[in-house]
Amino acid sequence: MPSTATLASKLVPIAARLAAGIKVDRKKIEEIAGPSMAQVAIEVLERVIPWIVTTRNGLLRCGLCGKGPFTRRGLYLHLIRVHNADIRYMIEDELERMIKVMHTYGSWKLNLK
Ligand SMILES: [Zn+2]
Repeated sequence: MPSTATLASKLVPIAARLAAGIKVDRKKIEEIAGPSMAQVAIEVLERVIPWIVTTRNGLLRCGLCGKGPFTRRGLYLHLIRVHNADIRYMIEDELERMIKVMHTYGSWKLNLK
């Protein structure tokens, strides 16, 4: 299992892609996070993405500094170039928070179809 700092830095480009509306294969996230952390990583991304992008009138803007409107690719590049460290810290905080919750309450993997 990768450390939260390592995992967070690897998830930054994934978060930026998803925020910009660029598709990411779930397998890619599983590859980065490992099978045991993939679902946690996905939940963390779901929490962080609304903080880093806003869509007003269908236009993409940076959720962190308000710049834009951007194209999908423009927003992706802006996020990874300008806000890489901010996004990494957010992801790392959320990962640590979720891992703490899992340790406190335990975690179950419900295999529902
Ligand atoms: Zn920005």
